[in-house]
Amino acid sequence: MSRPVRFNVHPIVAKTSDAITSVEAPEGYSGEGFFTTKLSDVVGLARKNSLWPLPFATSCCGIEFMATMGSHYDLARFGSERVGFSPRQCDLLMVMGTIAKKMGPVLRQVYLQMAEPRWVIAVGACASSGGIFDTYSVLQGIDQVIPVDVYVPGCPPRPEAILDGFMKIQELVGQESIRRRNSVQYKALLNSYGIE
Ligand code: SF4
Repeated sequence: MSRPVRFNVHPIVAKTSDAITSVEAPEGYSGEGFFTTKLSDVVGLARKNSLWPLPFATSCCGIEFMATMGSHYDLARFGSERVGFSPRQCDLLMVMGTIAKKMGPVLRQVYLQMAEPRWVIAVGACASSGGIFDTYSVLQGIDQVIPVDVYVPGCPPRPEAILDGFMKIQELVGQESIRRRNSVQYKALLNSYGIE
């Protein structure tokens, strides 16, 4: 007796015209033939919808990221299909996996090689806090060596959780003032990590 076939018998035709949305314009004033808004909002809109991730994956959480990039979860929907492995070109460092203390300086170097503005997500318990590896050899959270913007909980976090963390980063990026990176507070934050 053959097994019943349940998949792909009646392929669903995608109604793309209903499914495609475009980003909303930032707040501002519009009239006949003009629209005014803040430069920060326009820059934030462009930045948040074109983040280029640098996946720093050292163990199991990296596999969840692979699923997040796959066709089902499709991180490309957020404008982030351009994953890069050159710090020079990326602006979102996604740290996924257990970071050994020996790896700490390498992670920090990658962060330092990224140009401003740059953001960091700690994906999963290990990157956020060392996770279950409360041992002499494992860094108890990457925020001991670099500043972190968003933490994604879970061991491992499901792709939905990674997407949620990514959308939180998008919120931050969209609202960030273009002057923040020159602010005294931001410099003080970097200085607290020994970064000039
Ligand atoms: S948080 Fe869990 S799944 Fe992720 S790297 Fe650590 S042990 Fe692996």
